[in-house]
Amino acid sequence: MTLIDVVHGDITTQRVDAIVNAAKSSLLGGGGVDGAIHHAGGPEILAACKALRATTLPNGLDVGAAVATTAGKLPARWVIHTVGPVYSPHEDRSHLLRSAYTRSLAVADTLGARTVAFPLISAGAYGWPKEDAIRQAVTALTAARTAVEIVTLVAYDRSVAELMRRTLA
Ligand code: ADP
Repeated sequence: MTLIDVVHGDITTQRVDAIVNAAKSSLLGGGGVDGAIHHAGGPEILAACKALRATTLPNGLDVGAAVATTAGKLPARWVIHTVGPVYSPHEDRSHLLRSAYTRSLAVADTLGARTVAFPLISAGAYGWPKEDAIRQAVTALTAARTAVEIVTLVAYDRSVAELMRRTLA
């Protein structure tokens, strides 16, 4: 059984085994939570991402896929990078959003991570309506078969934390 917890705050300060990054396909950094993680974790994370691009991921990371690197100076041991889909009102991409959660947990399992923190993937620059982004996250996380014991959903805004708590209740 995986416990799902909600925290209002900054994902970079979470004391968990792994934090998940809502990365760009290029893995070369961006704004939002991606920028915050690279900034707080230091250059080791970008160096590890560049090494992945030079070896196993020459074309970058697919939408809905996940891969781990060091977490550099962060309290977490690993960063699991995943790419959420850009929201489209014309096409249902929700399976890709759920996949970002499921495959991040699968990577966590290969690492032996027992505690994992997630941001609300796709709900920033990628435009996913927050309420549905939360619903997709909770659907994927509750259905996943994983050895991860505690998943922390980290909300950057207080109102999003409240919505998360209501969805889980
Ligand atoms: P995406 O491109 O997947 O939409 P963003 O980084 O733009 O990714 O936003 C994803 C979510 O992460 C948003 O809900 C945003 O408010 C949140 N966020 C931004 N910075 C942080 C942070 N330091 N810690 C936790 N969540 C964050």
